[in-house]
This record gives sequence, structure tokens and C-alpha cells, in this order.
Amino acid sequence: MASDPVSDRWRIASGVTPDLASIDPSTKDGAPGGKSETKATTDALRERLIELQARLYAEGKRSLLLVLQAMDAGGKDGTIRAVFAGVNPQGVRVASFKAPTDLELAHDFLWRIHAQAPADGELTVFNRSHYEDVLVARVHHLVPEDVWRSRYGQIRHFEQLLHDSGTTVVKVMLHISKDEQRERLQERVDDPGKRWKFNPGDLAEREHWDAYQQAYADAIGHTSREHAPWYVVPGDRNWYRNWAVLQILVDALGRMDPQYPPAAEGAEGITVA
Ligand code: ATP
Ligand code: MG
Repeated sequence: MASDPVSDRWRIASGVTPDLASIDPSTKDGAPGGKSETKATTDALRERLIELQARLYAEGKRSLLLVLQAMDAGGKDGTIRAVFAGVNPQGVRVASFKAPTDLELAHDFLWRIHAQAPADGELTVFNRSHYEDVLVARVHHLVPEDVWRSRYGQIRHFEQLLHDSGTTVVKVMLHISKDEQRERLQERVDDPGKRWKFNPGDLAEREHWDAYQQAYADAIGHTSREHAPWYVVPGDRNWYRNWAVLQILVDALGRMDPQYPPAAEGAEGITVA
């Protein structure tokens, strides 16, 4: 019998509201070894990702969507950089969602999201996503409660539509501790190379830490489903996080098992003059 995929360790079962406070953001549990052994495994997984992504693109029939969510300084950018280094940029795309523009606000909340969904053959990463509309929108009362509450069902239907249309959806919350966030925000102040990322508004957001954790737990509980699972990845240690996210992607693509298309009719064995 096939053993359970490694990534099941971080998967939130359908209908379960995770107790985020009980998930240690700095755990090394399940890692293939210490930092250097885990980095070696991560490199091997990246090679596997490169092969699987090439097949997905060549097959051109299905797609993969990775939704990345995290608190400020939660490591979304670093994860994208580390996980996709060396992956063929053709066929991979990152869509980042910032505060909506006036035009976007004049539409339903999924309008701008749907437009960025992956095309056949594509691997798309959402750096923030439609989940902001049940996170920041809830914490800051941007819309009334009945509006954000009804979005859970709307999101489930939307992700079901994507799934039924050939898109494999995996959703990852990078789970950092409040202490780790403090250190990373301080680094953004102190390090000239990171200062451009510092947003004084992040300090005000930090005051809402508990409300965000509650909003994340509820959103995950309402929307983790067999066909669009959530994974909560401990994120305080970058090497552990990179390994975990690669493992999740490789497991998902491995299950899809994309295939190179057959050679063109008559192409077999011919000699190119
Ligand atoms: P980092 O985590 O590295 O700081 P970032 O993703 O926060 O990067 P920013 O440009 O700092 O990038 O912030 C984007 C902002 O857009 C976030 O504060 C987020 O809450 C906000 N945002 C995204 N989607 C929505 C939405 N639907 N409604 C309101 N605000 C949103
Ligand atoms: Mg930010």
C-alpha cells in the first residue's frame, strides 16, 4: 500500500478549525534531519518540482494554484524565491494582491481573483488572495459581518469551480510566532536592503495579532476541503518552511502525474536532414 504523503503532516482535514496556538511555529518535527540535511532534501525536491512543472506545461491541460497567506513578514516573498529558484519561468506566474483599487472595489470580491486564476498548463502562485476578504476585511470591519461570513461559502464554490475546471488548488498558511514577526519587522528597520519593505502600518496591524489568528483559524476551518486543502506550515525557520512548501507542491503535482504529450504523427524515428 502507498504510504501517506509527507505533506499530510501539515494538512488541515476538511471541516476542522485548527488551533493555531497549539502548532509550534519553530518546530523541526518530521524534518529529514537538521538544517543541512533538510536543505539537501529541499534541493532534491526542487529538482523534482522542475521536472513535474515541465510536464504540466507540456501537457497543457491542467493547472496548479498555490495560495500563499501569512501575517506581515510571514515569509511569503522568501518562500517564493526559495521554492521556485531555477524553475522555468515559462509557465510559472506570481499574482500579488494588494488593497483593492476603486475599480476592483466596484466589483464582487472574486472578480480580480478569478482573472488571475491559472490557465491550462500553468502553475500560479497567489501572494495573498481572496482570503484577505475574510481576514483584513473582518479584522478592520471593512464590510458588515453578514457579508464576510457569506464569503466562506462563496469561496468554497469558487474553489470547487476551479477544481472542476482542471485546477488543483493547494493553500498554505505560513505560521510564524509573534516574536518572530517582531524580529523580522525590526530587521526591516535596521537592514538597508530590507528597509523598502518596512511599512509603518505593519506596527498597527501587529496590534491586531489575536484577531488575525482567530480570522485565519475560522477561514481555514470553513474552507479546507478535500479538493482544496489548507496546509499550516510552521514558518519561523526558513529552511523547514522551504522544505515543507516544496514537499506540498511535489506531492500535489505527483498526484496529478502530468505527462508529456505523445510525439506528433509520423515523428517517430525520423532523421532530421
Ligand atoms: P509583506 O508580508 O512582505 O509585508 P505584503 O503582502 O504585506 O508583503 P504589502 O504591499 O506590504 O505586501 O501589503 C499588501 C496589503 O494589501 C496588505 O496589508 C493586505 O492586507 C492588503 N490587502 C490585500 N488584499 C486586500 C483586500 N481584499 N482588502 C483589503 N486589503 C487588502
Ligand atoms: Mg506588508
